[in-house]
Amino acid sequence: MTGKFRLRWPVDAPPRITQKFGENPQDYAKFGQAGHEGVDFGVPTGANIYACADGEVFDVRPEDGNAYGIHVRVRHRVNGHEYRTVYAHLSSVLVSERQHVRAGERIALAGNTGNSCGPHLHLTLKLVGASTPGYPAGVVDPLPYLEEEEEVPAPSDLTIYPTARLRLRAGPTTSSTQLAWLDRGEPLTVLGDAAAARTRVGQEEQWIRVRRVDGMDGFVAAWYVQLQPPGPAPSEPTPEPAPLETLIVYATEALNVRNGPSIGTSRIAIALPHEPLSAVGDPQAALALVGDRGEWLQVRIPISSFSSGQDGSKGYVAAWYVQTDPGPAPSSLATVYPTEDLNMRRWPTVSANPPVGRLPQGTPLTVHDDPERARVLVGRYDEWLYVETPEGQRGWVAAWYVQLEPPRAAELVPELALAGSLIVYATEALNVRNGPSTGTSRIAIALPHEPLAVVGDPRAALSRLGQWGEWLQVRLPAPSTDSGQGGNKGYVAAWYVQTDPGPAPSPLLTVYPIEDMNMRERPAISGSLVGQPAHNTPLTVHDDPARARVLVGRYDEWLYVETPEGLRGWVAAWYVSQTPT
Ligand SMILES: [Zn+2]
Repeated sequence: MTGKFRLRWPVDAPPRITQKFGENPQDYAKFGQAGHEGVDFGVPTGANIYACADGEVFDVRPEDGNAYGIHVRVRHRVNGHEYRTVYAHLSSVLVSERQHVRAGERIALAGNTGNSCGPHLHLTLKLVGASTPGYPAGVVDPLPYLEEEEEVPAPSDLTIYPTARLRLRAGPTTSSTQLAWLDRGEPLTVLGDAAAARTRVGQEEQWIRVRRVDGMDGFVAAWYVQLQPPGPAPSEPTPEPAPLETLIVYATEALNVRNGPSIGTSRIAIALPHEPLSAVGDPQAALALVGDRGEWLQVRIPISSFSSGQDGSKGYVAAWYVQTDPGPAPSSLATVYPTEDLNMRRWPTVSANPPVGRLPQGTPLTVHDDPERARVLVGRYDEWLYVETPEGQRGWVAAWYVQLEPPRAAELVPELALAGSLIVYATEALNVRNGPSTGTSRIAIALPHEPLAVVGDPRAALSRLGQWGEWLQVRLPAPSTDSGQGGNKGYVAAWYVQTDPGPAPSPLLTVYPIEDMNMRERPAISGSLVGQPAHNTPLTVHDDPARARVLVGRYDEWLYVETPEGLRGWVAAWYVSQTPT
């Protein structure tokens, strides 16, 4: 379990590496990169390409003008970390989005598509949360992961502790890849000779090789560690207490507001530094707790935060991360850029949360959060950033769809403005697919009467309307299963759409769980949980009622439903009935 993440070679043996990571900086300066961001393998067109590790395919891209040409992205979750591999310049892809693949499974054939001047495979490796100076968020050198198992020294019985929040690095220098942030006081097992490591503790310019509890290995600066767990963080001198109606406190850094007084409870909001938090209850009693490790304060949720409604307007913050002084003015805020067209949402979650805006790829977004913390979150799966657009609109965006650099010109795909689009309507509940064929994956469902904006020339689209065998590329409808993988566009069969929305829909079907069941973010068992409707809860099916009746009780079919509380998501059709049971 604690072994290092390994990559199998993506090409047949013997692999021939034609360009290593970081090579040819002169060719990459124009992209704002320090060098080649991956490893190239010299292989002929049609050569087999294999998955480097077990994982899930989360993106299959056609040749649409992007620099990587036809390419596949696979996500690998290992010991709580997320790695991603990208296989680029392919001639064809043999897997589809959401497909699970095994290490060594053939997933594609090599080619020469995109920004490539000869058949080869380009492999990029990302570790979500890591950063290598001069490269996009998460990018790391794949070679150390590909080479033969290196001799990692055995864990010793010595444990050391960071004296401050500290970077875990891939090598013993400050210029090497940053793998993760370590918390102050986090226990780290020393790898190799404990006696030698002990003499280095506290020494400038010395490094110690360590392993985290989750198995991640790396190096830490010896001058930021000690042999005992650090005590409580030094607290601010308590100001002279004045008689107060309500105690106002400020987070010392971006701080989780939780639904209970413990770190084991759910986060319901984030309090930003310099944002006043009013403590609930007796101000003198609250003041006595400020700065005390292990104590919690109940506060009103700050206005800029989301409230998912679980607990109304109040929550708990760690008393040792607040102070009565707002502190110095914040340093300049971080700016991030969507890596593709992106939804801005009211709350930091994908589910049951209609977008409040659409952000084109590359829009500069100001992050309203501690800039250092924001930079750490960029690129991380399941993290969210509270941002502001140039127009002043605010909301939450998925941190794993933004980057710290503006996108390269080659990555921007010109499109017709939405205003010039043809709007069509599905004649019945219709699959939106990730390619123009029935053999591709379903990425959303378009419901009748739901407007679909066709991408591209409206006149050309109009001429294909109703034609059997023709496909139209459309933007995904707002309440669809947008899990992000397919981006924001998909394909619908042109013979199932029309320009007329048609007659008003008949009343929607209601179904009832035959036992307590899970409601998911997308129509798959692997979809994230968004709710758990109890046995016999009436669920309104947002689909053509005639079609929904056919699906009820069928194995491997899913229904998009709404609970009486207005929560929406997907439920397994084989766990519901048309009547209460
Ligand atoms: Zn390359």
